[in-house]
Amino acid sequence: MMSPHIDRRRLLAAAGGMALFAGFGSVSAATPKFRRYPFSLGVASGDPWPDGFVIWTRLAPDPLAEHGGMPMVAVPVCWEVSEDARFTRIVRSGEAVARPEFAHAVHVEVDGLRPHRPYWYRFRVDGAEASTAGTARTAPAAGVGVDRLRIAVAGCQAYPHGWYDAWHHLSEEAGLDAVFHYGDYIYETAGHPGAPHLQVRDAAGGIVDRSHFGDEIYSLDDYRRRYAQYKGDRQLQAAHAAAAFVMSFDDHEVDNDWASAFDQDGTPPEAFALRRFAAMQAWYEHMPVRRAQLPGPCGIVMHRRLDFGALLRMHVLDTRSYRDDQSCTQPGQTACRTGDAEATILGDAQRAWLDRGLRNKAGWNLIAQQVFAMPLYETAGDGTRKLRAGPDSWSGYPGARKQLVRSICRHDLTNVVIATGDAHIHAVGTIPVRDDEPDGPAAATEFLATSITSGGDGSSVPLKRHEALLAASPNVALLNDQRGYQIHDITAEAWHADVKVMDRVQTPGGSLDTLARFVVTPDKARLDLS
Ligand code: FE
Ligand code: CA
Repeated sequence: MMSPHIDRRRLLAAAGGMALFAGFGSVSAATPKFRRYPFSLGVASGDPWPDGFVIWTRLAPDPLAEHGGMPMVAVPVCWEVSEDARFTRIVRSGEAVARPEFAHAVHVEVDGLRPHRPYWYRFRVDGAEASTAGTARTAPAAGVGVDRLRIAVAGCQAYPHGWYDAWHHLSEEAGLDAVFHYGDYIYETAGHPGAPHLQVRDAAGGIVDRSHFGDEIYSLDDYRRRYAQYKGDRQLQAAHAAAAFVMSFDDHEVDNDWASAFDQDGTPPEAFALRRFAAMQAWYEHMPVRRAQLPGPCGIVMHRRLDFGALLRMHVLDTRSYRDDQSCTQPGQTACRTGDAEATILGDAQRAWLDRGLRNKAGWNLIAQQVFAMPLYETAGDGTRKLRAGPDSWSGYPGARKQLVRSICRHDLTNVVIATGDAHIHAVGTIPVRDDEPDGPAAATEFLATSITSGGDGSSVPLKRHEALLAASPNVALLNDQRGYQIHDITAEAWHADVKVMDRVQTPGGSLDTLARFVVTPDKARLDLS
């Protein structure tokens, strides 16, 4: 592979800038150079391993225009990885190809790096200024002891609902080993999916238009343009540049509340499959994920494991692609499942894969997933406690939750922490061993992180409905309606979780506070305030 690249580069040098888009057996274009900065969507890194990570960019000189403003030819992109931020000690470099088939996105799986240390990376393309630099930390070497790890959890970033100041604050968090993104990276809806109370304003109080570009998205080009709109945000770019992300997806990367072959509207599965495929291709194109996550005609394999030395094993789940349809909640509904308490949320193969992966000696197991795993309870009219329905969460799949608990118990694990998103609130609690004993022993602790923007400012005053849920749910320690994210500081002895809240997101410059700090020890699935 190397020599044709070298030959072609010599050729390009000889021909000057006019040859930039020639070659690669593709349609040639005579575009002499980029008139606009091609790295307008920033850079990103992801899925850290002990010897490397993925680095990502996409060439899009005109992000919202057709094809991101790119001619439909393959373009060589150079990349460099350095041990220092000034790029004086470059330890890896190479050339990737930005192909029109992938919207001119570039994914490089960098390897050969040393474990558990920071690196810096950047991209170059002929005829344009270099990309901004990003930084990422490799994972600790397999099986070695690790003093500490720091993992952020964030997601649900409805662009029209507010400013990404939470991403800016996250970009300034020191020493992040990874950021788990639980999905809702984009929302598929048309225009501004919010009520007037979600109006976004500038610092002077003027109304700002952050509405979605275009109608509800269906085609590959629609999804690409939606990602381009979101990824054009500088504060989101800063977060990606600051740490390696471990990406997953939830529903809105495709369509609200989708479940394997079914959307929420009863669309014929063969029609929905085409939309889902377009959405998954665009997800892959815009995420710093490995080639193993490249979707094929049979779907995508998003669930995967990442090990951080002997301290942490991270199991990233896909709770969308293999689940049974959500259960019906109203009489007369048709686009949903009736009955079947044994319905699956992971599918048999992923459930077995998770069970196998839980057989380990890691200091901690982090199950990184999307939807509420802990049950919530409410007080019925007669004063008794009853399980609160949650058709899109694990509570809608009680048999699957029972299997997860059984799996954790069978492996004698007391060190399972679950990271979750989707609900646009902070929620901290435990998964009881038995659904009907919420004050009995717990199988795992769960930290559900709120949204970056989805839902707008929210409220720092406790909501009445949250107080009622807390009163009926002895397994739940905290519910909060503000925006923000969570930070996990992990050592062999203790897992500290910081619940971070923003005072506002609908006007710029929101400030970040730590609402609560919890501690968990690995000998017992139990929460304490730290
Ligand atoms: Fe969301
Ligand atoms: Ca969601």
